[in-house]
Amino acid sequence: MIRLEKYLVQCGVGSRKVIKALVNEGHVKINDETIYNYGLMVYPDKDKITFRDKPLKYKELKYYVMYKKAGYITAMKSELNKPVIAELLPEYIDKNSIFPVGRLDRDTEGLIIFTNDGEFNRLLTRPEDKIEKTYYAELIKDISTTDILNLEKGVTFKDEIDYCPGKVQFINSRAILLTITEGKYHQVKRMLRCVNNKVIYLKRVKFGKLSLDNMIPGEIKEIQKEDIID
Ligand code: URA
Repeated sequence: MIRLEKYLVQCGVGSRKVIKALVNEGHVKINDETIYNYGLMVYPDKDKITFRDKPLKYKELKYYVMYKKAGYITAMKSELNKPVIAELLPEYIDKNSIFPVGRLDRDTEGLIIFTNDGEFNRLLTRPEDKIEKTYYAELIKDISTTDILNLEKGVTFKDEIDYCPGKVQFINSRAILLTITEGKYHQVKRMLRCVNNKVIYLKRVKFGKLSLDNMIPGEIKEIQKEDIID
């Protein structure tokens, strides 16, 4: 038995907020009867549950974190015979339903989330939600205090793309932790380009509340969505 609202989320109908509105507007029927109570307990195996008169397909929502190895493209299908991260997924994970949340460059290592929850994916990647991602970056040359201040103010790449202010944690003159809330193309590499430096090694170590901790390259484990954001 499961709450109707939760069941509809798991069928991918929409977020809880959207679902409450849809139920209130009479778009959901149970055993051919229109239901207006989204808190009702239902039996997905026995009850006939329809949304706009179409039967729903229940899917269990899954969340995984992987320590991506360098050398793999963030894609689920092979591209021009180059290795893709889908190859790092174990057999027991259904590769046809899950997808990565955002992308890491081929040469970037570190934390990448997989899910089959489209709604949650949108939540994690919406720029307005400002979810923090932290990267460990090693640099080709020393970084100065002025460079750090500039990264913290926000930089502009070739007078075109603005990058949000980052939080910098100095590790040594050639290594920093950079925390940003955006996910633009090559963002960390380009931000460092803006201060006339170059990233020579990049690893994502944190996404929201979730960190790599002591995972090893190539490892994948199942998590709960509450491990990522509240
Ligand atoms: N920023 C980059 O430059 N590359 C990544 O893979 C992720 C963030």
